[in-house]
Amino acid sequence: MKAIVYGGPGNKAWEDVPEPGIQDPTDAIVKVECTTICGTDLHILKGDVPAVTEGRILGHEGVGVVTEVGPSCTSVTVGDRVIISCISKCMECEFCKAGLTSHCQTLGGIGWIFGHLIDGTQAEYVRVPYADNGLIPLPDTVTAEQGTMLSDILPTGYEIGVLNGAVKQGDVVAVVGVGPVGLAAVMTASSQGASKVIAVDGNKFRLGASREFGATETVDASADDLVAELRRLSRDGLGVDVAIEAVGIPATFGLALDSIRPGGRVANIGVHGEAVQFPIERDWINNITVTTGLVNATTAPELLDKITSGAIDPAKFITHRFTFDQFLGAYDTFADAAKQQALKVIISNTG
Ligand SMILES: [Zn+2]
Ligand SMILES: [Zn+2]
Repeated sequence: MKAIVYGGPGNKAWEDVPEPGIQDPTDAIVKVECTTICGTDLHILKGDVPAVTEGRILGHEGVGVVTEVGPSCTSVTVGDRVIISCISKCMECEFCKAGLTSHCQTLGGIGWIFGHLIDGTQAEYVRVPYADNGLIPLPDTVTAEQGTMLSDILPTGYEIGVLNGAVKQGDVVAVVGVGPVGLAAVMTASSQGASKVIAVDGNKFRLGASREFGATETVDASADDLVAELRRLSRDGLGVDVAIEAVGIPATFGLALDSIRPGGRVANIGVHGEAVQFPIERDWINNITVTTGLVNATTAPELLDKITSGAIDPAKFITHRFTFDQFLGAYDTFADAAKQQALKVIISNTG
């Protein structure tokens, strides 16, 4: 079969590899119908994730059809159309039982293993461990493209942004950075009843797109005094209720922290590569909450209901479509997202 194979920092290829087979009784094999590329894949290709070794098939998102199941699978069967969750989970360890599946101890403390510690979904076939837990049946009313947005991006924006930020009815929410994950937070914050969702970004295309995802105001990151601007847009000038950080650099984390009101919340989604300033000498008195997290992807069924009810439509994320034989071109487009006006790219297996 063909797959995107990591060849060390800066290198990848669409090449022939052996097809995966069942290794453990709880495994299933899925024929991938469509998949996508995540910002994390670009980090891996830069060499930022050393746990990914040469020869690894990348990708942790997708929809497909089950072609083979191990003898211990009880709920998934051959022929099922499924969403492949980016988080694998045993559902028996203490962390899984508590809902912290991203720290499944049976899997060594990290539930994100596809395209990381085991071969991933940017391939014609993928082996799925603990398939009963990691595969979500796709209803006929939801397209494969919509379903692919439930593997990672929508649960990430919702769980790590909106739920960790405890967004409630009437809140004024600022989303700092409206790339795909920030837009997922915008979309789900709106459906959660936020009275205002303020998108902050330096990219005009993304700011424009954020309106279609539910942003009620947009703020250009090049504005003079961003903190003052966010305070002005808050309920009473005291600051926003929740700031969702979806960039991962010191300046945007600082903006989120500076813009919330007393009692406010910063929900960090951004992947950070360096230390940030945390002015505890200012904030010890402010009753604020700062949260961090890796997606557990446990809300995918709930988000699926929001799609079928029409509350959210993740097809809005998809700006570019490719076939498997154009996979490297899809990477080029996604890596140059700002110029290409790309949000999420879909790569479909037409074979
Ligand atoms: Zn991802
Ligand atoms: Zn577990």
